[in-house]
Amino acid sequence: MSKLVTILAPAYNEEEVIDSFYERVIEVTSQILDYDFEILFVNDGSKDRTLECIKRLRHKDAQVNFVDLSRNFGKEIAMIAGLDYAKGDAVVIIDVDLQDPPELIPEMIKYWEQGYDDIYAKRENRAGETWLKKWTSSAFYRLLQKTTRISIQEDTGDFRLLDRRSVNALLKMRESQRYTKGLFSWIGYNKKEILYNRDPRVAGTTKWNYSKLVDLAIEGITSFSTAPLRFSSLFGIVISLGAFIYMAFIILKTLIVGEMVSGYPSLMSIILFIGGIQLLSLGIIGEYLGRIFNETKNRPLYLVNEYNNDRVVVKYEDK
Ligand code: UDP
Ligand code: MG
Repeated sequence: MSKLVTILAPAYNEEEVIDSFYERVIEVTSQILDYDFEILFVNDGSKDRTLECIKRLRHKDAQVNFVDLSRNFGKEIAMIAGLDYAKGDAVVIIDVDLQDPPELIPEMIKYWEQGYDDIYAKRENRAGETWLKKWTSSAFYRLLQKTTRISIQEDTGDFRLLDRRSVNALLKMRESQRYTKGLFSWIGYNKKEILYNRDPRVAGTTKWNYSKLVDLAIEGITSFSTAPLRFSSLFGIVISLGAFIYMAFIILKTLIVGEMVSGYPSLMSIILFIGGIQLLSLGIIGEYLGRIFNETKNRPLYLVNEYNNDRVVVKYEDK
């Protein structure tokens, strides 16, 4: 029996592109004869006709499977849902908007056969993105890299082929606030980079806006490092030290020159400064406390409405 490769595509409001995505993928996979393919769509609670389009494809092609989530959970969760349902010996994660060219899949499979566990596509250019997005993204990567010990690949998205053992490793990580890009690095194994040019979206609009990107950035830093916490303790030490020196200075000054009641502006600015730092530190602690709160609830990561037209009921024992 030949090996099965799952092509995992999370989709949220993608009615305009589902069909062209399917056709481009089939064009590629039909050329690869030694493998079986499963195209697994995860419908992430789309509000348009995405699910209907997927069902139509499933109706005419048994290679197409789909998981329909009970609501929109976001791409990170949609991916883990897809990995849960993927049956392949390898899984290719790919966007349906055709920004990730399916034509790279044969090359990925080639390296997979050479024994690599995680073949990721690194973009050489980022067509169709504003300079502001490029700049913020590169600044964020630099910051993230400084705060964490594991190396996180820059300009690399979720487009990659994962061997079954990488997939299983990812499945072990059931944290609810997921920063999957970091998780790929965290698991390690043999990685191989291939380069490609990222095309603009063929149709539809991006689901990202700046507030979501800021969320993702905070997610990335807080889930992979406790450096911000250390930053607030360092700041505390520095300020206490400064305060101590200043106190000594004031005492000496009072002893030598005598007591004076002036100094309202300096007093005010110091109080405001310390207050600001305290709030910032509380905020940082709060970020981490919030994630502890979310993780301890131990809720399922997602709920499935149907899998391949079958209604899914959560079993009580289920994780
Ligand atoms: N996506 C998803 N759930 C969401 C948002 C996006 O499954 O809540 C999917 C989307 O359908 C697409 C992929 O994630 O296949 C990447 O989304 P998008 O193209 O909007 O992101 P960008 O390429 O702009 O980073
Ligand atoms: Mg896209």
